Amino acid sequence: MMVENEKIPWYSLNPRQLHFGKWTWRFIKVAAVIFVLSAFSVKPLWQFGWRAHLYCPEQFFPVKSAKGKSFRGGDWVTSKKIIVYGAPGTNDALVYETAEGLRNIVDELHLDISVQLVPCPKDAEYSLIAATHPHGQVASQPTAHKWIMTGKAISRFDLDTFIAHRLDARGMKFAEMVVVDAQFTNPDWAWGLTDFPSGTAVLQQGETGRELARHEGTHLLGYDRHDDFPYYVFGYPEGWLPSQRATLMMLLTKDTPQLSPRAHDAVINFWRGLETKKRRYFK
Ligand SMILES: [Zn+2]
Repeated sequence: MMVENEKIPWYSLNPRQLHFGKWTWRFIKVAAVIFVLSAFSVKPLWQFGWRAHLYCPEQFFPVKSAKGKSFRGGDWVTSKKIIVYGAPGTNDALVYETAEGLRNIVDELHLDISVQLVPCPKDAEYSLIAATHPHGQVASQPTAHKWIMTGKAISRFDLDTFIAHRLDARGMKFAEMVVVDAQFTNPDWAWGLTDFPSGTAVLQQGETGRELARHEGTHLLGYDRHDDFPYYVFGYPEGWLPSQRATLMMLLTKDTPQLSPRAHDAVINFWRGLETKKRRYFK
């Protein structure tokens, strides 16, 4: 029996009896349009969106150094240079593999960017120390597709701290890809973290290699997402469900070296959008 004043749960209301004000309706409509646009796209819109940098305005937001100096995001691109090095104590062969992976993706995209394998710069050593906490917490660690508690304390690396110090040391003179022997503070499960605005990619020694370098390298070249957002782009041959997509830009597909057509077009158009009459970025 219904009690007169009993509150009816909102989800059992008849939709016809829902009454929203004019502004609420407008908000719902705008939200619905934004939702559809962010969940789906079509090939020409996708390409145009990357060329006009509509998909990634945040790539050009200002970045701040530790001393408070401000830089325009992405300004390093004009240098056409990315250096690769390992933190002191890291494995040279792995750092070499990392540089090869990055060189690989740069060449595949025909970008006119030089990738230089260098010893760890002196000023970077200081930034690395500032960003690394030697006595980290007990961490969860990714193994093949699942996470386990390792129970051991390992170094923790904070990307934001590193970026802030690197900007004081090198400004926007080049971008860099760095191999470290530590786990990240945030998120602690990531194998690599990349920030296009400051031109910084950091990879975990235990996980790095050609494929991870290609994955993070693609982020470093401006593609700041994975191939599941938008959910689906019409016009590309890809699985309807993101889990059916075996591409380089999906998480947990380290063994898939192929860049998907959507990611390929996104990066190419991103750089086409950066070009001016005087400045060319393709070979
Ligand atoms: Zn990624």
